[in-house]
Amino acid sequence: MLATRGYAVKSPSSKFEPFNFERREPGPNDLLIEILHCGICHSDIHQARDEWGGSIFPMVPGHEIVGRVTRVGSDAKRFKAGDLAGVGCFIDSCRTCASCKEGLEQYCEIGPNFTYNSREKDGKTPTYGGYSSQIVVDENYTLKVSPKLPTANVAPLLCAGITTYSPLRHFNVGPGQRVGVVGLGGLGHMAIKLAASMGAEVTAFSTSKSKEQDARRLGAHEFIMTKDPKALATHAGRFDFILDSVSAPHDLNAHLNLLRRDGTLVMVGVPPKLLDIHAFSLIPKRRKLAGSMIGGIRETQEMLDFCAAKNITSDVEVIPIQQVEAAYERVLKGDVRYRFSIDMKTL
Ligand code: NAP
Ligand code: ZN
Ligand code: ZN
Repeated sequence: MLATRGYAVKSPSSKFEPFNFERREPGPNDLLIEILHCGICHSDIHQARDEWGGSIFPMVPGHEIVGRVTRVGSDAKRFKAGDLAGVGCFIDSCRTCASCKEGLEQYCEIGPNFTYNSREKDGKTPTYGGYSSQIVVDENYTLKVSPKLPTANVAPLLCAGITTYSPLRHFNVGPGQRVGVVGLGGLGHMAIKLAASMGAEVTAFSTSKSKEQDARRLGAHEFIMTKDPKALATHAGRFDFILDSVSAPHDLNAHLNLLRRDGTLVMVGVPPKLLDIHAFSLIPKRRKLAGSMIGGIRETQEMLDFCAAKNITSDVEVIPIQQVEAAYERVLKGDVRYRFSIDMKTL
């Protein structure tokens, strides 16, 4: 077994502390990856604080991982020692269900083995994520990362990037379409960059006036304050597609009302509480409300290659691991531009 250092929480109310644990010896298809950077996703906070229920403790969060391959299993063919590698939200899946066969492992019918707060294939061993020195992952669940882009800024693509890229692609967002992005955090700022790069006309919806200039720099054509009900009413019926990345309870009806006939609102944010939806927010314009979860391995690679070709990365604030607790508090206040990326050298 491989002695590994990390940062963990022991319960929903405890603070992060150093945590030593063991990773398996790499098998024939495995890679051993020394972690360079790991992003802080709001899902880390929801799960570390058990806001969705069923969290497994101690928990080492982190599913926006970029690192360097240090050891390669005897049958692994796609990577060699020294390569950069990415690991996202899951590290395995059943590989045989219809979703896995289609490359949609995130929707595995048995349930993917998530990178943390989950179990390994044996159904017993807890998985520990990227707030750690190294990780062992099957090469089939590992992504190629271009050396062209800085690893601190690439790490958030492994969740925030793919979670926004996948629905934009699935719903064919492109030129001539008016797209709204609600919530300018880690996911939202990537959604603006990606939708704009796909040729859509993008409008940012935010509760933070201070993010207006950034939104325009990221590629938004318009910026609308959601706290102003008149502003929302003025834009009713204008949008083809809306991506909602808000992490807390909010008025979904006000956002559905922005859609034109046959428009679609996709939820990617996961507020821990139920949201109220009035049927009349959907019925009169045959609107659609959908959800989307991260992306499969094939599409995640496509997204990373797309971002490398277009020089798209996440805007990050790099922090030492010792500041993870303070970073969580700042994410909760919306005080991050736009993702924290942990420098794992500091561990
Ligand atoms: P984040 O960086 O904290 O961004 C969330 C943004 O939502 C904030 O920056 C803020 O934007 C807005 N917001 C926060 N509280 C609000 C409130 N009470 N009312 C209205 N707006 C509010 O979080 P993230 O990492 O982007 O994640 C966003 C959500 O997506 C989380 O719930 C996370 O668990 C979920 N997620 C889902 C998937 C998936 O596969 N579907 C993957 C990753 C994450 P403004 O300041 O602009 O208002
Ligand atoms: Zn995430
Ligand atoms: Zn499956």
